Amino acid sequence: MVQQLETPVCIIGSGPAAHTAAIYSARAELQPILFEGWLANGIAAGGQLTTTTDVENFPGFPEGIMGGEITDKFRAQSEKFGTRIFSETVTKVDLSKRPFRVWTDEKEVTADTVIIATGAVARRLEFLGSGEVNGFWNKGISVNGFWNKGISACAVCDGAAPMFRRKPLAVIGGGDTAMEEAGFLTKYGSKVYIVHRRDELRASKIMRKRTLENPKVEMLWSSVVEEALGNERGLLSALRVKDLKTGAVRDVEVSGLFFAIGHEPASAFLGGQVKLDADGYVVTAPGTTETSVPGVFAAGDVQDKKWRQAITAAGTGCMAALQAEHFITAHGSEDAAAASAPTEATASANGALANGVPAPALAADGGMDPHPNPKTVTNPGRGGLSPVEKAAFDEEADDTPMMAVL
Ligand SMILES: Cc1cc2nc3c(=O)[nH]c(=O)nc-3n(C[C@H](O)[C@H](O)[C@H](O)COP(=O)(O)OP(=O)(O)OC[C@H]3O[C@@H](n4cnc5c(N)ncnc54)[C@H](O)[C@@H]3O)c2cc1C
Repeated sequence: MVQQLETPVCIIGSGPAAHTAAIYSARAELQPILFEGWLANGIAAGGQLTTTTDVENFPGFPEGIMGGEITDKFRAQSEKFGTRIFSETVTKVDLSKRPFRVWTDEKEVTADTVIIATGAVARRLEFLGSGEVNGFWNKGISVNGFWNKGISACAVCDGAAPMFRRKPLAVIGGGDTAMEEAGFLTKYGSKVYIVHRRDELRASKIMRKRTLENPKVEMLWSSVVEEALGNERGLLSALRVKDLKTGAVRDVEVSGLFFAIGHEPASAFLGGQVKLDADGYVVTAPGTTETSVPGVFAAGDVQDKKWRQAITAAGTGCMAALQAEHFITAHGSEDAAAASAPTEATASANGALANGVPAPALAADGGMDPHPNPKTVTNPGRGGLSPVEKAAFDEEADDTPMMAVL
């Protein structure tokens, strides 16, 4: 049987954004419920940081901290202040009216506000040696690899590590992100190869120019990586690269390989009920975590295609919690007043609406329900935004095509 729960704040996700939102909401006595997912999107609870080793750029850990350890600490801090955490994946939501509803296979939650913090997944390529150390890659084929032993999906996060300094490195990709990551890596590596399967770059003109003029960058055009090779210490040492035009294969010596082939935001379960951009990221009003649905907020990588760092995710998680709290304060009392206002409908047996205000519910004995749900109002559009925020949202978001999901 599906268990029914209620909360002022329902948080979906389990990375730094979700747990920061949970810590703030719990400390504000909003009794948040957090769904951390069960291998949602193929990522363990804790989020993307669980896929990496040393995290050296999160303040408070001067010696660095392992990805899995910092995510355990985030979770412990959320729990300490009373967050109810469930290891379940949210499968669908109803954001068409307040209170909102959120479902997993085992629960149905009624929530005054929802914080979406489901993150994104960095795309990785599959070839021999690209997987985990002693790991299994897809389809049950054992492919011991050099993931976290030279292969990464985040140059900004890992590029400064000693193992990459003054060593040849490689980036796979052809867009602006790949150019940015390659440029960043030239600060540390002795040279940076960009492996690209086409003979021209997708990146913008300025990024192309900057990259191609960088003396430390060498393009491997029309090429793909067929295999990652390692040394006796189990670290990446070379890439077997195939030239797609000539068919020639050669080994290129590198100590680092960085995938820069995009991310996939975890937004499909929203069923198109909040505005998404063309790449599936949740659109938020600039400088806020407000989505197109008042009372629904988004934080972290699911709404951020530019910065994508643990600290920026945590920052927006904090904003989302504070905005949710303000929203509940402002709208809880408004809605309660609206619901208890005397109307013709209160006398009507069928509870029809008068002046757009829902009639208070009748209790089982025919009297007034002492605990009517005051927040059951039709979604009023963008009523949650101030005029300035609304204008900013419209300017930023209106030309963004709605992505068809589900
Ligand atoms: C290899 C790698 C190394 C990195 N290293 C660093 C670093 O050193 N420093 C740094 O600052 N950043 C680093 N990053 C980036 C950082 O991990 C992300 O920016 C950050 O984790 C984003 O946090 P988030 O809270 O938005 O969500 P995520 O970390 O993406 O977590 C989202 C969570 O939500 C869960 N979820 C998804 N859908 C659902 C659902 N429907 N129901 C319930 N749960 C759901 C997912 O399973 C996931 O666990 C790295 C990223 C990668 C890939």
